[in-house]
Amino acid sequence: MFSSYSGVEMRMDPKDLGTVNSDLMTGRYGGAGASAAWQTVLDLYYQDRLREAFDHALALGVGDGAYGTHTYRMVEAEWRAREYGEIREFSDVLIVEAPKEMEESSWEWLLEAVRSEFEEVCQRLGYEPVEKVLVSLMVPESDAPWTPYRHGFCVDKVPYDKVVLPLGLMRNEGHFRNGLRHEFGHVVNLNLAQGRMGMWLEEAIAMRMGGDVDGRYVVQLKQGAPIWMGPEELSEAFVGDRRGATGEGLWRAYEQAGLIGQYLGELRGDFALGDVARAMANNSTWKEIAMRVTGQSDEDEALREVFGMGEDEVFLRAFEAAVEST
Ligand SMILES: [Zn+2]
Repeated sequence: MFSSYSGVEMRMDPKDLGTVNSDLMTGRYGGAGASAAWQTVLDLYYQDRLREAFDHALALGVGDGAYGTHTYRMVEAEWRAREYGEIREFSDVLIVEAPKEMEESSWEWLLEAVRSEFEEVCQRLGYEPVEKVLVSLMVPESDAPWTPYRHGFCVDKVPYDKVVLPLGLMRNEGHFRNGLRHEFGHVVNLNLAQGRMGMWLEEAIAMRMGGDVDGRYVVQLKQGAPIWMGPEELSEAFVGDRRGATGEGLWRAYEQAGLIGQYLGELRGDFALGDVARAMANNSTWKEIAMRVTGQSDEDEALREVFGMGEDEVFLRAFEAAVEST
């Protein structure tokens, strides 16, 4: 689906899946979004009780629209990884799930990669890990066009934060390590900002961690052709209904977010990006009320606190930095 994008990912926002806002789901997917039966599947899914979630999804069938199919395929992919997988818990916070038949030398390589990339991201953003993280590798049969977010994602589950990547990504060490760091960027954001961070900033930080920015987009920008979106539009490009979205449009959204992450990181160091995440969760009640009344976004408030400039200025300056770069 997003094959033009070589990096990995798609962070799954629980709000997209209907546990939080069933009105939104009903609007987007019709009655299936709010159905109590699918809600049971999602409840089990968020507890990572995948066999039960899959059995429930199977019993419901997938014939009742996009919502059912999407959820079914998502649960199925994670269940296959569990069914054919082995789980190894190898530090206070890190757990890995990979196919049982994987060679011992590959396991060693994998555990080392997960440990070192996680440590690097935590250090760069200044996060002391508390919450457990499960890294699960999807089996090859799930690496198919019908699997949602098949290039990888991060999801906030009850027992741990879960990162899912396709097993095949391990064939390219550079891409695999970038993918791990990108998803760990989401894990750290989730914990520091307590789930309040909007999508454009999420992807800006994750792209910065993954080192994913592709020089081709800067070339396009310099030629004056493409689009530089505003904050809301950019966030929408990630969370909106993607069924009509083209791979090209999504690639541009990732690249733009990545360039903004790069601008901020180069300006004040990656630690400041962690500060922005922290600043989203540190507001007084009065501040919260003021923000609600004035319609100020969480991102704007946090950027002003840490960088001394608001969202619009950051977008403008990041654009200038990109087109003036050599
Ligand atoms: Zn991402």
